[in-house]
Amino acid sequence: MQATDYEIRIIRSRRRTLGLEITSSGEIVARAPMRMSEKEINAFVTEKHKWIEKHLTRLQKAREAVPERKLSREELDALYKKAREYIPERAQYYARLLGADYGRITVRCQKTKWGSCSSKGNLNFNCLLMLTPPEVIDSVVAHEICHLRHMNHSGEFYALLRQIFPDYDKCSKWLKINGGAILRSVHG
Ligand SMILES: [Zn+2]
Repeated sequence: MQATDYEIRIIRSRRRTLGLEITSSGEIVARAPMRMSEKEINAFVTEKHKWIEKHLTRLQKAREAVPERKLSREELDALYKKAREYIPERAQYYARLLGADYGRITVRCQKTKWGSCSSKGNLNFNCLLMLTPPEVIDSVVAHEICHLRHMNHSGEFYALLRQIFPDYDKCSKWLKINGGAILRSVHG
């Protein structure tokens, strides 16, 4: 595996070390010191190819196809289990970004809602989110986390949301277009 096999976005800043990051949409970002040569960066990426592969595979697995039929009990259970592991991890990430605390997180298979946040700061997510792309999962998680700051859909709420999740509008549109079909295909 060569570094040139990957599409890498290089962001230079006044930092001392090189850092690699994979975004939820699968983009590889290298944060590099100002003067580090491209050759050095590529060598580092090549060295880290196992780590990159692992993360890209994980992203792909999360991006399952929308089912065309009602899911079986076993399939729903598997989805639930996956959601129970994955979603709290994302919630923790966005809560930390905001410096906010939440109460409990529950995951359920729901017929209409993708997520909610109670006035006590408890979060609830639909396990069927696992059938949407990772960035869409993140958009729903970031939305509910922002409710910890604003318990409404005011301009301030959306400004904060777009600040911590710039692709929000794109993802929200995706969910509006495809979400109904996902809910129907599972619940029949
Ligand atoms: Zn909301």
